Amino acid sequence: MAKILAVNAGSSSLKFQLLNMPEEDVIASGLVERIGFEDAVFNIEFRDQERSETVHIPDHAVAVQMLLEVLVDLQIVKSLEDIVGVGHRVVHGGEKFSDSVKITDEVLKTIEELKDLAPLHNPANATGIRAFEKVLPKVEQVAVFDTAFHQTMPKESYMYASPYDWYEKYGVRRYGFHGTSHKYVAERTAQLINKSLEDTKIITVHIGNGGSLAAVDGGKSVNTSMGFTPLAGLVMGTRTGDIDPSILPFVMEKENMNIDEAISALNKESGLEGVSGISSDMRDIDKGKSEDNERAELAFDLFVKRVVDYIAAYYVELGGADAIVFTAGIGENDIEVRKAVMSRLAVLGIKINEEANNTRGQEIKISTDDSKIQVWVVPTNEEVMIARDTLRLIK
Ligand code: ADP
Repeated sequence: MAKILAVNAGSSSLKFQLLNMPEEDVIASGLVERIGFEDAVFNIEFRDQERSETVHIPDHAVAVQMLLEVLVDLQIVKSLEDIVGVGHRVVHGGEKFSDSVKITDEVLKTIEELKDLAPLHNPANATGIRAFEKVLPKVEQVAVFDTAFHQTMPKESYMYASPYDWYEKYGVRRYGFHGTSHKYVAERTAQLINKSLEDTKIITVHIGNGGSLAAVDGGKSVNTSMGFTPLAGLVMGTRTGDIDPSILPFVMEKENMNIDEAISALNKESGLEGVSGISSDMRDIDKGKSEDNERAELAFDLFVKRVVDYIAAYYVELGGADAIVFTAGIGENDIEVRKAVMSRLAVLGIKINEEANNTRGQEIKISTDDSKIQVWVVPTNEEVMIARDTLRLIK
């Protein structure tokens, strides 16, 4: 049995899951936070137990060393040789990567060079890769990119109508994100509706703190709502999503802001939080709404409207849809949001099964049998996708 680690490295964190493959059983999972600080926290869950420790962890290599020692100490693995591969989530693959790849020096260099496009994420992902190279030099590593799934978009979906040389010189285009999640739920939905992936048209709705939709034709992404960066598209927890760019210089002048402050406002002070003035968390918005808070109602309506607008656009673009699938924190759990989105889509012949929709966090069909389009909830599983690709590429 092959054991594979699926890793998501942030600038001061390391999230991991150890899976038995190809069975896809999760053996252990956990999170190291505050790497670089005296009071870093190491947390691991395995066989219904949980262990948490606060210790000094100076860098990612030490975090990896500690993780591997713990796996052996707790007899989660017999020896480190049990681990045959490490798969890394990497945020940006630019136009260079349209699939996951085995990591070589060349690949790692390219990931680092793409930091222009993802300054917060790619350097952190690269640090995670280097840490594993140092501690487990003989084990093969694989990079799984958030952007890769969307590399199949046609040019009319990914180009902006900005000066063409911005694209040629700087790679200004739509890349899209959450690709691993869109791919997972599209593939799973094809199984659930008993169709072969090649014959399906599916609209995937990934709505969490960040959110995006994808139009998936025959298993391939043909459009997605995030753009050059994850700021585009939907109304999100604290992000505006699509706005008129001329608002920026206008408000910058009025408020005497510089560009960093203005962009930060769009990323961190907008969305559900900015509109409601209450919270970025949809649960708080739901609560505000139930108390007739007008700004919470407005935030909810803006959120729902934008999701509906994209579904309608993708329905036309795909020439119909076999299924719409909700995933991520809000998609998997928020009964009110799903209900509101579906009722606004009644014109497409979508009918909600209220009882089925009254559930959280499970794989379930939430449309009625006579609904023209099937609507599903499918909890996403990016770690399983990372482990699958890792196994495929190291074989
Ligand atoms: P991230 O993009 O950070 O991965 P998540 O996918 O975890 O985010 O989604 C976070 C969102 O999911 C929050 O807005 C939160 O309100 C929502 N959410 C999580 N659990 C529930 C729940 N039980 N009911 C409604 N919304 C939920």
